[in-house]
Order: sequence, then structure tokens, then C-alpha cells
Amino acid sequence: MAGKSFFIDTTKCTACRACQVACKQWNQNPATKTVQSGTYQNPPDLSDATFKVVRFAEEEGVAGDQNWYFFPDQCRHCIYPLCKFKADQKVPGAVTLNSETRAIVFNPKVKMSRADFEEIREACPYDIPRYDEKTGGMSKCTMCLDRVENGMQPACVQACPTGTMNFGDRQPMLDMAHAREKEVKQVHPKANLANSHFVRVIFLLKDDPKKYHQFAATDRFTPKRRKP
Ligand code: SF4
Ligand code: SF4
Ligand code: SF4
Repeated sequence: MAGKSFFIDTTKCTACRACQVACKQWNQNPATKTVQSGTYQNPPDLSDATFKVVRFAEEEGVAGDQNWYFFPDQCRHCIYPLCKFKADQKVPGAVTLNSETRAIVFNPKVKMSRADFEEIREACPYDIPRYDEKTGGMSKCTMCLDRVENGMQPACVQACPTGTMNFGDRQPMLDMAHAREKEVKQVHPKANLANSHFVRVIFLLKDDPKKYHQFAATDRFTPKRRKP
């Protein structure tokens, strides 16, 4: 199991959103109309035109200061891609596995009913897929395969000015993630790598994943205990 992976060190993220803009530019996705909704997060969610969104969550610290939890959300390119398993049953060919990078890729030419799409979205533990009314199919992050296959970094990684976004072969990314987790734990003992064994987009979080976003991590991959 080789392939590629991302390492997203959220402890370095300043929420500048260069990654979000670069993703839109490279994928030629149009701007998204939005309104001020009492948060700096903008647009409010992923969509067929937004494959990456920097989520903002905040909490009051013990000294009355503000703790920010920035989360540059995108498809995790799961090692056990539940979206693909569901799509294989419902709409064969809609979601495929790229053999070299192990990216999970949607095919915009494969149309699907809204009901089938909803089942695929429901299968995703991270609530990533969105329905594209224009194509009648699914949309999400592509791992910038068209760039990666030509020796380039994904657009979001190239645009990140702080070293938050990293991309490369899986083992070096895992090594980087574990080394950095060890460092960060010295200051933030709850630091964790979310579901690193199951995904190709490995997030380093300084605190409980739920503080970042409802779907930052999942326990769907944790084996249920058998009843005695
Ligand atoms: Fe965070 Fe980097 Fe994205 Fe800026 S470009 S929001 S620092 S991940
Ligand atoms: Fe599929 Fe969701 Fe995993 Fe992406 S995050 S590969 S959409 S199951
Ligand atoms: Fe967007 Fe490409 Fe980054 Fe995926 S890998 S979030 S498509 S820029």
C-alpha cells in the first residue's frame, strides 16, 4: 500500500485561505455567492464549486481569550473508501481508484439520480461528496491528479505559505506527521492525527477533533466490540 498522502499540520494554519482560492482557480470553479453569517468562515460549506473550505471554530480560553481551531477541509482519499464501495453498488464507474497515487476520483461523466447520490454522500464518514446539478453527477477534491501526474504538487499545497499543507509519498508523510505530533504533544497533550491509518489526508490536531468540525474525524472505522 504505497501511493500518495497529504499531511496537514493545522497547528501552523493561519486560515489565510490561499489553499481554498488556489483550489478554485486550478479547478476553474466559479466564485460562490455568500453572506456574512457571523463567522469568518466563507463560504459556509463545501459545494459542487468548492472542493476545499477552511473551517473556522472558536472557543473562549480560560483567561477569556479566544482559541481558534482552523480546519482546511477536503476529501480524505480514504484507504477504505466507503463512498466508492457504495457507488460500486449503485452507480458503477462513478468513483474509481487511481492505481498509482491511490486517489479516489469521481467521474463527472457518470450521471446518477439524486437518491443514489444521497446514499453515496451518506456513506462518506467525512460528509464530502456534493451533487453537481450541471453534470448530474458527483463532485469533490480530485487530489489535483492532473498536476500530480505531471510531477507538480496539488494546487492547495503549492499555495500554502506556512507549511501547513504537505504532499508526497505516503511513508515520508506519515513519518513527518508522527514526528510533528510528538513535538506538539509537549505543549498540547491531546494532540492527535485523527484517523491517520485510514485516510490519505492526515490532519494533525492539537485538541479533540469535535472542536474543529463535526466531521473532522470518525469512529466508523473503529471495530465494534462483540457482545459477550
Ligand atoms: Fe491554512 Fe495554508 Fe490554507 Fe492558509 S493556505 S488557510 S495557512 S492550510
Ligand atoms: Fe470518499 Fe468521503 Fe473518503 Fe473522500 S472522504 S474518499 S468522499 S469516503
Ligand atoms: Fe483542491 Fe486539488 Fe487541493 Fe483537492 S488537491 S483540495 S482539488 S487543490
